[in-house]
Amino acid sequence: MSLLLTRDEYESLASAIALPSGAVIAGRACPSLSGATFETINPATGKLLNRIAACAKADVDLAVGKARETFEAGTWSRRHPTQRKKAMIELAKLIRRNQHELAVIESLESGKPIYDIETIDIPEALNCIEWHAETADKIYDQVAPSGDDAVAMIVREPVGVVGCVLPWNFPILMLAWKLGPALAAGNSVIVKPAEQTSMTTLRIAELAREAGIPGGAFQVVTGLGESVGREIGLHPDIDMVSFTGSTEVGRLFLEYSAKSNLKRVVLECGGKNPCIVLDDAEDLDVVAAHATQAVFWNMGENCSSNSRLIVDKAVKDALVERLLHKVQAWPTGNPLDPVNRLGAIVSKEQYDRILGYIRKGKAEGARIVLGGDPIASGDGYFIAPTIFDSVRPEMSIARDEIFGPVLSIITVANAEEAVKVANDTSYGLTASIFTANARRAHRMARAIRAGTVTVNCYGEGDVTTPFGGYKTSGFGGRDKSIHAHDQYTEMKTIWLDVRDPAVDVTTD
Ligand code: NAD
Repeated sequence: MSLLLTRDEYESLASAIALPSGAVIAGRACPSLSGATFETINPATGKLLNRIAACAKADVDLAVGKARETFEAGTWSRRHPTQRKKAMIELAKLIRRNQHELAVIESLESGKPIYDIETIDIPEALNCIEWHAETADKIYDQVAPSGDDAVAMIVREPVGVVGCVLPWNFPILMLAWKLGPALAAGNSVIVKPAEQTSMTTLRIAELAREAGIPGGAFQVVTGLGESVGREIGLHPDIDMVSFTGSTEVGRLFLEYSAKSNLKRVVLECGGKNPCIVLDDAEDLDVVAAHATQAVFWNMGENCSSNSRLIVDKAVKDALVERLLHKVQAWPTGNPLDPVNRLGAIVSKEQYDRILGYIRKGKAEGARIVLGGDPIASGDGYFIAPTIFDSVRPEMSIARDEIFGPVLSIITVANAEEAVKVANDTSYGLTASIFTANARRAHRMARAIRAGTVTVNCYGEGDVTTPFGGYKTSGFGGRDKSIHAHDQYTEMKTIWLDVRDPAVDVTTD
């Protein structure tokens, strides 16, 4: 049985859903204290979708007060780990039960194809929440080898009040990457969704209440980055910020921390990721399928997008021919129609930015072999998948994170040059290598400065593997896997002197 509904079913769901608009503070949906709102637009139509609570400092203060109170009371932070696990698994069940509704809301506000949300984003988000829920009563602390006179325990404790600041490109999935490990460890979490995509986070916060997670353990403060994001960064009673977004804003969070309470900051930022195809790549049809997914998945609005195809000259023409063929199976259009693999660009601002890069690429002398134009569709923001050939490493389309459906092909003479070009970037998030030679693949994987390197496939690993970047792609920790638990916990040493005073000699 297919999980997917038909386009008509999704559209009738879209017209029937009551869209959430209030921040969720202390377990209640509420307007901002000032009553201000901001508009959220459907990028597939350019029309107003909803007005959302525009919170500010006073709302952040309120949420932080409640989060601290809950943390100190221990209703979540000291709830038995098995009970925390049960509540989180219940949350996952409720998300699953409301999957179609959440998928439609996400598609309406982000322009993402419903096909991806239903088959990738939500299943992966559920897997992430359940996986981290299961860690709550399975991670053991340590006892140090400190001899018979002492018991030295190394224990992990929740950090406290955690601010999670999210991007718009994978709203539900990025929420799950942070919420899963942060809640499992016992923190009180305050989420600030990106202003373009607040509504699925609001809906999931309502479901969390239903699942028995205390109102002060998971709150959502909606609003703009320069107000709510900044206030979270500067707040003296927030212990940690986990941020996913651009490198530019990530740097601001380090400043906010330095100017306030030295809160812990973890940054998951941008990428300009290479896909290297060597002359001995095994099957160019398979390579082309991966390379297409790697750059056009989520309209290229993806931090791990392989937007640089670095290909050996011996196989370049054959690969380009196959790529052009594969892209035909990626129709662009109405995001609520499950036949479409590409939807709308998230906002007018991002749409203009991508078209600006396409113009720049042409002006700098790169050659368009596919696309390069907007797709006319009412007032929606659609851009055709675009491929540039003859790109040189110094061009802006080879250096800047475009965050759109634009591939830059750079031709190289050999594997050594491929690694040199791959590493010639300020970013270091992911990379892919295609070669039949395992020894060469492994040596190249070690030589590439990136947090995740995949061989003979495109991907980000799975929930069991850490995700994060080198260089300006990341700082301070990793999402996913057991390593995410480190991000959301403090390490404490408890030294217990067990010498017997009747027997043991003194140390002087
Ligand atoms: P962004 O940096 O513009 O915004 C991210 C968040 O920061 C939003 O919630 C926004 O409101 C907030 N913000 C904006 N200005 C702020 C300010 N002055 N102070 C405090 N907060 C502020 O990023 P985006 O455009 O939403 O997302 C795209 C970026 O996210 C890309 O660079 C992409 O590579 C990156 N990303 C990285 C990962 C990863 O895991 N490494 C995953 C997804 C997206």
